[in-house]
Amino acid sequence: MRAFFDDRQWAHDPKHFMANGALLPNPEQPERINRLKAGAEAAGYSFEPPQDAGMGPIATVHTAEYLAFLKNIYTRWQRIEGAGEEVIPNIHPARRTDSYPKSAVGQAGFHQADTACPIAEGTWEAAYWAAQSAVAGADALVAGAGAPYVLSRPPGHHAFCDLAGGFCFMNNSAIAAERLLAAGHRPAILDVDVHHGNGTQGIFYDRGDVLTISLHADPVRFYPFFWGHAHERGASAGLGANLNIPLPRGTGDEAYLNALGSALERIEAFGCTALVVALGLDASIDDPFQGLAITPDGFERLGVAISELELPTVYVQEGGYLSDALGGNLTRFLKGALGTS
Ligand code: ZN
Repeated sequence: MRAFFDDRQWAHDPKHFMANGALLPNPEQPERINRLKAGAEAAGYSFEPPQDAGMGPIATVHTAEYLAFLKNIYTRWQRIEGAGEEVIPNIHPARRTDSYPKSAVGQAGFHQADTACPIAEGTWEAAYWAAQSAVAGADALVAGAGAPYVLSRPPGHHAFCDLAGGFCFMNNSAIAAERLLAAGHRPAILDVDVHHGNGTQGIFYDRGDVLTISLHADPVRFYPFFWGHAHERGASAGLGANLNIPLPRGTGDEAYLNALGSALERIEAFGCTALVVALGLDASIDDPFQGLAITPDGFERLGVAISELELPTVYVQEGGYLSDALGGNLTRFLKGALGTS
């Protein structure tokens, strides 16, 4: 089984993250790579580095203005006298239609939604290669590989077309879906991360050619707060092509798998020909975010349930943070999906 990862994805090593006014270590640690790699290998996957498909596939999702910002902001930031080692915004426009400034500080506020996406020296390189891994995973699926897995880290589903946030810079799942669309598929993105996939929703919100579905802890009291509510159903041509399934905090296996049923029904009704699973593992009962309470058995059943759609599927890693259960949950999910458990 083919899996994709590039060693340059190690280059992003974020230090800071402000939560509830406290400066904490950033949970999106490079060590996640070791755990996830071991988890996928235990399910029978072998890793290979992606080809470099260039900026084209990334620019199908992200604006040129945003990509130029991401690529250059670290260098620009270092020219500010007394600047910190990471680009972290300290001001945001009240509305995204407000004016676009020239200053590095102002642009950071425009393009970074929160304090959970610090940009340091290696961020661009790591995010670029995570995106290339997603492109390679989609290409492998188109070429007939069964169920490729993409270790896309840093993750992507909180990134909008011109906005980073929540540990995410480039929306790897959206980039993979665009790649499948370009190959003639009618793709859906099923996001099972504990956090709502707000960036993915935003990218496709007014489009009817990519179905977006997210199951997540209810954002009424959980990140990302402003998106992920059930009434957000898409707009214009995309009305009805976005499905949010918010779940109460602490939801366990049975209720989660019941809720998944309506997601799978929607995917079938959409006439999908290929599926991108935005595979966050932070819905785990052992995850430090403590949003939902999925057990290792639950992850295996989730994999089985998705595989029953019998769609060509690429698995794109999203969240899932350091705990002893992280790698094992990935193994159980993938074995369930492959029917090898
Ligand atoms: Zn998450």
